[in-house]
Amino acid sequence: MAPLKVEWDGGVSVSYGDTTVIFDPQKSIRSPSKVFVTHAHLDHAGASSRLNSEKYSTKETIDILAAYRRRTGWWRPISYRETVKVGDLEVKAHNAGHVLGSSLYEVISPEGTVVYTGDFQFRDTFTLEAAEAVPCDILVLEATFGSPSFIFPEREKVASEMVRWALDLLRRGKTPTFRADSLGNAQEIIKAFNMLTDVPVVVHPSIAKISKVYRAYGCRLEFLSLNRETADEVLSSPDGVLVVPKNVKFGDPSRFETALVSGWALWFRGRARASFALSDHADFQQLMEFVESCKPRMVLTCFSERFEKTLAAHIARKFRIEARPLKLIRSEIYVNSKPSYLKAAEHKAR
Ligand SMILES: [Zn+2]
Repeated sequence: MAPLKVEWDGGVSVSYGDTTVIFDPQKSIRSPSKVFVTHAHLDHAGASSRLNSEKYSTKETIDILAAYRRRTGWWRPISYRETVKVGDLEVKAHNAGHVLGSSLYEVISPEGTVVYTGDFQFRDTFTLEAAEAVPCDILVLEATFGSPSFIFPEREKVASEMVRWALDLLRRGKTPTFRADSLGNAQEIIKAFNMLTDVPVVVHPSIAKISKVYRAYGCRLEFLSLNRETADEVLSSPDGVLVVPKNVKFGDPSRFETALVSGWALWFRGRARASFALSDHADFQQLMEFVESCKPRMVLTCFSERFEKTLAAHIARKFRIEARPLKLIRSEIYVNSKPSYLKAAEHKAR
């Protein structure tokens, strides 16, 4: 039997025999392998739009990419729990709980099962259900917040703090302005204010476009787009909160007071500027719980130069299994052909 190979090859590559599938490619790839994309954030989906190979992702992800005006030719929709057969491999999508339409992928081979998480969240959020833990032999795990210093506070508590901060500013005649990712945290902020207050939420047009896709898939979000007259009226009072992308330069500082909404806000605690630790990623605790639930024999960490090694070391120590950054080496694993003996042959990365 052939080994099951997992390596970094411009994306997460899984091979068995002559069949290779690539997940979230970061550049043009050599062979016309089938490509699977976990979600619409451009650090995962951006390069795929330029590839002329067949690509799979959820319909929600394709619709969000279309809202970003990305090319969506060659894309095929895949639903949660649906399987696509590619040679000797079967690829199955599961909910990742990160942003609308985000998937984690299970790759089933005659030699064992690989799960690649992409970005994920292992708790319910205001707009999405938590990721599904899938039992596997090899877990390829995102490590964005893979350090014990990243334990996020309860989402409800963060939302109450955001509301309190905003209401206080409104009383003082200022417009509270949240800077957040257009996809993910922006919709969580809208939903939090919809649930906890009657305050109108005015959003940047790029956030409105994505939020409309959420609405189209049944997520009730009440907001006004900044380019409408009504939004201008609300903001001139001021009587509403504003949500803008993180990188947008914004307004008169005497009228608008801004706060960053991001998991990285934990690093800015205690500084003068307001920030709120709300994230669409798993924190360290969730990452460890996810490993525990999937019960892998090996974990390969990825998508965080900063914490890949740290997270792998914690996992190896706690669960007494092999764990290392995906980019370090190519991993070959035999599971089914040697049921009583697991062999992980290691090769230097090419
Ligand atoms: Zn993401």
